Amino acid sequence: MWGTRSSRGNDSVDCIACGETVTRSAAREYDKEGDRWDRKGKTFEHLCKECHTGLCHQPRDELEELLVEIDAGELSEIEFLDRYARAVEERYGPLDHER
Ligand SMILES: [Zn+2]
Repeated sequence: MWGTRSSRGNDSVDCIACGETVTRSAAREYDKEGDRWDRKGKTFEHLCKECHTGLCHQPRDELEELLVEIDAGELSEIEFLDRYARAVEERYGPLDHER
């Protein structure tokens, strides 16, 4: 489990792509296993609206592949965020939140 975030309460989540903290209602759930209806025993990851929009314009298969490539399941959260951001940037260019 990733769980060092309980002190922040349940109303905010961190975007897995840019690390932005957003309210849960503003975030988009992202399930890297690709099956968001099977919620049992899962921790969902979240993307802020900007990243979700950006990522969803990319082919889904590539994103899965990318997550596998960086060993998403084996990393600490910090390492994951770091590698993920870098992998996305390498592949798609910097995420531009000003747009
Ligand atoms: Zn984001």
